[in-house]
Amino acid sequence: MGLLTFKGGLHPYDGKELSKDKPITEYLPQGELVYPLSQHIGAPAVACVKKGDRVLVGQKIAEAGGFVSANIYSSVSGTVKKIEPRMTVSGNKVNSIIVENDGEYETVSFQPVTEKTNEAIINAVKEAGIVGLGGAGFPTHVKLSPKEPEKIDTIIINAAECEPYITADYRCMMEIPEQLISGLNIMLSLFPKAKGVIGIEDNKPEAIAKLTEMCKNESRIEVAALKTKYPQGAERSLIFAVTGRAINSSMLPADAGCIVDNVATAIAIHEAITLGKPLFERVVTVTGDAIKNPGNFKVKNGTNAAELVEAAGGFKSQPEKVISGGPMMGMALSTLDVPCAKTFSSLLCFTKDEVAACEPSNCIRCGRCISVCPAGLMPTKLSEIADHGDFALFDELNGCECVECGCCSYICPAKRRLTQSMKTGRREAMALRRKKK
Ligand code: SF4
Ligand code: SF4
Repeated sequence: MGLLTFKGGLHPYDGKELSKDKPITEYLPQGELVYPLSQHIGAPAVACVKKGDRVLVGQKIAEAGGFVSANIYSSVSGTVKKIEPRMTVSGNKVNSIIVENDGEYETVSFQPVTEKTNEAIINAVKEAGIVGLGGAGFPTHVKLSPKEPEKIDTIIINAAECEPYITADYRCMMEIPEQLISGLNIMLSLFPKAKGVIGIEDNKPEAIAKLTEMCKNESRIEVAALKTKYPQGAERSLIFAVTGRAINSSMLPADAGCIVDNVATAIAIHEAITLGKPLFERVVTVTGDAIKNPGNFKVKNGTNAAELVEAAGGFKSQPEKVISGGPMMGMALSTLDVPCAKTFSSLLCFTKDEVAACEPSNCIRCGRCISVCPAGLMPTKLSEIADHGDFALFDELNGCECVECGCCSYICPAKRRLTQSMKTGRREAMALRRKKK
């Protein structure tokens, strides 16, 4: 069988060789820990501790603020210093709990889930504060509670890790694959008719071989080799590659019978159910040509990003651009004084910013942006419409189907800021849709 894939996409330099063979090492934070109350999609969490309280590792410090929200746990033992707005990777200040680390790492005792009913599992996932760790931050218990659970026939583990440079999920697959399989089996137990598919890009042959070997006696799980192509890991691209089913912006994966979770999320589910451990740490890749010793680190939630640079040996030369997340879809940081929240998968530090170095010029009508767009859009035209503020027309021409993957900007020889215009167009057109409703 040929490799599974989708239409459009491209092949950026992947840079994964810098960190792919670096085993995960635990990093213990030195400074204060900052826990933003909004680390997920949905309502912010509500603090359940106050200034002066002593907290332990794994103690709940903020309660979910609604069904679509998530609890937050302390990742160190120490004292709550204050609750105040702090800068986050989004560039916005978010109300945050600040904990002074006492360096003791005194931990609450965790209770595994013994009664494995669907309700108990979903409640435990909710209680553990698990959200999509691939970057979306959507609360996982909501994903695991679709309206029509009997229609779910495929649970896809997004192991594509298609963004260049990031190797956190790859290291998890190489070092703790049994936890990934356990997490997937827990999800499968909720949907008796479903099969599990672990989708891995074929630039990770060792991970494909390892998981294929480990799953040979798992009758409900298969490993699918995906063609290496960006954005293979975008939810819609992945669902199409694995099942041949197409979804659009007004549909959820569950409408196509699918639930998609990434590697780190499945491991967090394993930990929540088999150990009773809530989510307060994750694996983060720190890399880029400005970093002395690129690597993969197990990082406590709330750790200051500047500490991660030091953990990786510091800068070997001054970075021109620092990004949280991948180079295609991540957020450029104006300061390293931000906390690593639940969705913080990588810190990339580059000595050159090629996009900023070139001024955008006129479109030469080459059509390259159209040929790479995985959503089948005309970014050249839609970006102009968005720039002119005609968001009704933008929506009419399906601009809201943009998945903000960055392929169009990457390929454009005129260096036009297409993705930026598409993001604005999409945000405004969606707001218009909501107003009309
Ligand atoms: S228009 Fe959107 S989906 Fe298409 S390539 Fe550009 S960013 Fe990606
Ligand atoms: S890739 Fe750039 S130059 Fe080519 S058609 Fe698209 S916007 Fe124009």
